[in-house]
Amino acid sequence: MSDQSSSTPRAAEPEPRRPSVGVRIGKVTVGGGAPIVVQSMTNTDTEDPASTAKQIAELARAGSELVRITVNTPAAAAAVPRIRERLDMMGVEVPIIGDFHYNGHQLLEQEPACAEALAKYRINPGNVGFGKKKDSQFAAIIEKAIQYRKPVRIGANWGSLDQSMVVALMDENHARAEPWDAALVAREALIRSAVDSAIRAEEIGLPRERIILSCKVSGVQELIAVYRDLARRCDYALHLGLTEAGMGSKGITASSAALAVLLQEGIGDTIRISLTPEPGAPRTGEVVVAQELLQTMGLRAFTPLVTACPGCGRTTSEFFQELAKTVQSHVRERMPEWRVKYDGVENLTLAVMGCVVNGPGESKHANIGISLPGNGEAPAAPVFIDGEKAMTLRGERIAEEFIGILDDYVARRYAARGA
Ligand code: SF4
Repeated sequence: MSDQSSSTPRAAEPEPRRPSVGVRIGKVTVGGGAPIVVQSMTNTDTEDPASTAKQIAELARAGSELVRITVNTPAAAAAVPRIRERLDMMGVEVPIIGDFHYNGHQLLEQEPACAEALAKYRINPGNVGFGKKKDSQFAAIIEKAIQYRKPVRIGANWGSLDQSMVVALMDENHARAEPWDAALVAREALIRSAVDSAIRAEEIGLPRERIILSCKVSGVQELIAVYRDLARRCDYALHLGLTEAGMGSKGITASSAALAVLLQEGIGDTIRISLTPEPGAPRTGEVVVAQELLQTMGLRAFTPLVTACPGCGRTTSEFFQELAKTVQSHVRERMPEWRVKYDGVENLTLAVMGCVVNGPGESKHANIGISLPGNGEAPAAPVFIDGEKAMTLRGERIAEEFIGILDDYVARRYAARGA
């Protein structure tokens, strides 16, 4: 007789996290087994401290645990300590990361207050300097990081590959009996550029526990191949992101497809979703996507998420979509307060369903679920709490009443912090 229990299919689980050296950035730890960190980047002019501080605060309140800003001019570097002061006055502790290209060595030298106010520096080995100046400018930035005790992300990018590395690897490739194709040489250049730079930074004196690596490309399959290779070759903490992912659903889909495969394999210690915002859309969209990616994969919990059916010919009206949206928006709005007040509230599960076919079943799996009446059903919406039918809502005020039930449940179920 076969052993039924051993043949029962189990849910897929992520592979154990790849061991990496933990890096402290302010109060946040990246790698070393710490939870995967969500980060984002501003698109304001850093020279404008008011709008940059405002956007950093918005990103932090949306859940970004680290925020990167470009530091591209002397005026931008001079604005950094003022941005930090504004954030401190607003009670926003999020660490700020400075993104340097071409002139980081000068800006960090000329603006010591900027070097101090930043929690981490990000440099790109492909544009830190060119020709004979490359090594000395790279060393100058690393020495500043050592002086100010800051971690550094060495972030190689497909779009700005270190050309001297490419040329050296092309020459190496020509000497091979069976030369690699050009794409493989470029991938090798990207990885070697990051890893060799990290080794050089350690030789200069930057401790291993202050180095994070990234190797970003814009193609999904290429990103997966690059990071699998990179993860095998080193134990530095890794920042994951698909660069130039694009706008709207394309950007979300491409980033999620690439990052999900890597995260499932245990690769990645911090993520950024590089979305191009739709005109007028808030910058915080990239934080929401990053959180939802980690949460739907079961890797972290940030905010209660609403399970909703897609609706179909059985759905009676748009009320069902409106209710699902209202509930999700309500939860997001309340989370800054709930997070502080209620332990574990981020694990709450909700369901808003369109008819009796899957409505009661799915609602019973959630902490709180509502099954709205579909075509031909009585105009009543049963509400399920922790798997049991608790009440039935009717009439014009279903949305308000359901939100009230949700708020009461949160206050009752989750212990107030410090209580
Ligand atoms: S639960 Fe009902 S309304 Fe929703 S998709 Fe399924 S059959 Fe359609």
